[in-house]
Amino acid sequence: MNKCAVITGITGQDGAYLSRLLLDKGYRVIGFTPRRGSDTTWRLREMRVADRVEMIYGDVTDLSSVLHVMRSQQPDEVYNLAAQSFVGASWNQPVHTADVNAIGTVNVLEAIRQSCPKARFYQASTSEMFGNVQSPKQSESTPFYPRSPYGVAKLYGHWITVNYRESFGLHASSGILFNHESPLRGIEFVTRKITDAVARIKLGRQRTLKLGNMDARRDWGFAGDYVQAMWLMLQQPKPDDYVIATGNSTSVKEFCSVAFQIAGLESDAHVEIDKSLMRPAEVDMLLGDPTKAKSLLGWEPSTPLRQTIEMMIDADLQRVRNE
Ligand code: NDP
Ligand code: GDP
Repeated sequence: MNKCAVITGITGQDGAYLSRLLLDKGYRVIGFTPRRGSDTTWRLREMRVADRVEMIYGDVTDLSSVLHVMRSQQPDEVYNLAAQSFVGASWNQPVHTADVNAIGTVNVLEAIRQSCPKARFYQASTSEMFGNVQSPKQSESTPFYPRSPYGVAKLYGHWITVNYRESFGLHASSGILFNHESPLRGIEFVTRKITDAVARIKLGRQRTLKLGNMDARRDWGFAGDYVQAMWLMLQQPKPDDYVIATGNSTSVKEFCSVAFQIAGLESDAHVEIDKSLMRPAEVDMLLGDPTKAKSLLGWEPSTPLRQTIEMMIDADLQRVRNE
């Protein structure tokens, strides 16, 4: 019998990549997704999986809907990717961010505990939990110090996952993923904002790009590599927590100059600093240590950042041309 996986947040970047990975492995994939006023399946369509996944409407903040999907589907694996995932918006919507990212996570865990306790659970934790970093390279043993309502809410999601594992013996793992990008990244994130602007400037549709803190450094990987790590975590005999990162850190400024240079442009000629884009509290630098994932999961990133940027620019040039 084919395995069945439920993915919350299936219409997001990672949901689209993970759907394709699981479908290619022969899984039956159920998307648990809120009903929205407009179509949210563009990423699933770009990955050519929209007609291969089954959708069930629901919201992680609504326990009754989560219980319904777990009871009716009896999944083998549950990937909790649903989130208000944009750090910048979390200061404007702190309560909503806590509802989805924190309460949403315990709802999913509780529904599994009550309805399908043998299901294996993946929690989408984040390097934002390290925030004001307590060590130059962050590993599973680095203390957390979140710097945004997003990071604080995700920290609850992380610890409640650990707690349900220890309290009830659930096969619940938490992936502490560092930033990962792709052509399917949301336009509000700095990488995609940059590649979209590069495409528009190249095609004469835009002249300038306004950015905030260009000194911030991130450990940027490729989403397609990172969803493999999620799956590997749930194939282990025992649940655990893993840092997933590349081990390289790049500044926003460096990302920007590479992106413009790929398109044959000069970033200095087009980029302006806009102080209104600075955040109330900043995560200055993130650099992950993926040693544990390499030794226990056999996982390693395989896509260099430059290749990811090239993919993103190619996709954005195509989209802008088609507008
Ligand atoms: P996206 O923002 O692209 O996707 C988030 C998904 O969650 C969307 O499908 C969204 O649906 C859904 N969602 C939002 N609210 C709810 C809700 N109340 N109930 C059910 N679904 C909901 O995020 P990514 O794919 O980039 O990230 C996946 C997960 O990994 C997130 O939890 C994110 O916080 C985490 N993460 C991401 C990192 C990254 O660099 N990408 C790094 C570390 C962690 P809709 O669009 O309809 O709102
Ligand atoms: P995050 O790491 O999840 O917050 O991912 P983002 O892509 O949103 O931001 C990465 C870094 O880029 C942060 O330190 C931001 O402050 C910085 N940054 C600078 N300018 C911008 C901008 O215009 N938009 C966004 N989203 N981030 C910016």
